[in-house]
Amino acid sequence: MKILVINAGSSSLKYQLIDMDSETVLAKGLCERIGIDGSNLQHTNIAKDEKTKIEKPMKDHGDAIQMVIDALVDGEIGVISSMDEIGAVGHRVVHGAEEFADSCVITDAVMKALEKCVPLAPLHNPPNLIGIEACTKIMPKVPQIAVFDTAFHQTMPPKAFMYALPYEYYENDGIRKYGFHGTSHKYVSQKAAEFLGKPASELKIVTCHLGNGSSISAVDGGKCVDTSMGFTPLDGVPMGTRTGSMDPAVVTYLINQKGMDAKSVDTLMNKQSGVQGVSGVSSDFRDLSAAADEGNERAKLALDMFAYQVKKYIGSYAAAMGGIDAVVFTAGVGENDAQTRAAVTDGLDFLGIKVDADKNNTRGTVDISAADATVKTLVIPTNEELMIAIDTKRLVEG
Ligand code: AMP
Repeated sequence: MKILVINAGSSSLKYQLIDMDSETVLAKGLCERIGIDGSNLQHTNIAKDEKTKIEKPMKDHGDAIQMVIDALVDGEIGVISSMDEIGAVGHRVVHGAEEFADSCVITDAVMKALEKCVPLAPLHNPPNLIGIEACTKIMPKVPQIAVFDTAFHQTMPPKAFMYALPYEYYENDGIRKYGFHGTSHKYVSQKAAEFLGKPASELKIVTCHLGNGSSISAVDGGKCVDTSMGFTPLDGVPMGTRTGSMDPAVVTYLINQKGMDAKSVDTLMNKQSGVQGVSGVSSDFRDLSAAADEGNERAKLALDMFAYQVKKYIGSYAAAMGGIDAVVFTAGVGENDAQTRAAVTDGLDFLGIKVDADKNNTRGTVDISAADATVKTLVIPTNEELMIAIDTKRLVEG
């Protein structure tokens, strides 16, 4: 079965066509500037290793999906002979709230339930829904599946997901921890179990998705029991430009004492903070390492703050699960930044976590634990598109 994976943003749309018999990507690409001057499609035919850029107006996501299909079936740059070869479409949806604890086949009732989740993710869910509507219109007979960033975290117990606000804020407004990056945490925790040759049900794993956005999850017996992101992706460790957790009273201080309004506080905390805000250098860890190596103290501080917070999550999740069998590093920083992995795990030998310096400098899916470590430390490249396709296939095949 060939599955088209769609990740629709407000003015962009990413796609991959995956052959699920071999779990290989046949083609992938990106539509940019949808509804804006200068719309273009960048399409890669993987087998031919050929990238093509097509500039053509796309007034909406419907035009974008049509261009994707045209590229996929094109005699020159395409990878299939007709649209009928697409067995199903898997859509990334950011927020599924408490309505969706698993991926699901999209029906009219599901679309109505998805609409109800919009207030929880007003920037992300609407374009996801527009992408689903556009695909359904162009491919009415092809099953459409929604795969949620939040679903994997729905197994968290109330003691982990509740905030200590008056209970009615949870009951009436759904204010609680939801968690994000669920597709990635699910994928790498399953891969870790495979790699270790043990059933997921027997493992306690801390998955560290460290990228531009970062989150840490505690996965006990294959189920998420806690995660660092919260009601929104702002919570947890400091990120590229997001604060991560801090005393919520900072917000009221900024409003009352500095005269800031809700919008400017939101921009400050989401776009101007994190390692970028602290260092004044960059949100990119490569730039921060280079600056720190040249003696930039604030770049070093930003990296130290990041590693310290990730380390604290690993310790607290070991406590929450009553033990730990493996730590998994994934995403841009987790997969590529040996220095950060070393800094995060430094001093955790009391828990049995110890990294071998040579192994830590290798790439790919790799066990970087020292010979005498009792906890495995693994690097596992994430693959959210493949996880979406795996879930899509599971649901289509019933
Ligand atoms: P992601 O959000 O998972 O795409 O991760 C993107 C981030 O990964 C970038 O902003 C960089 O900070 C980081 N990154 C990517 N490659 C490297 C590398 N070789 N060394 C350190 N950080 C990296």
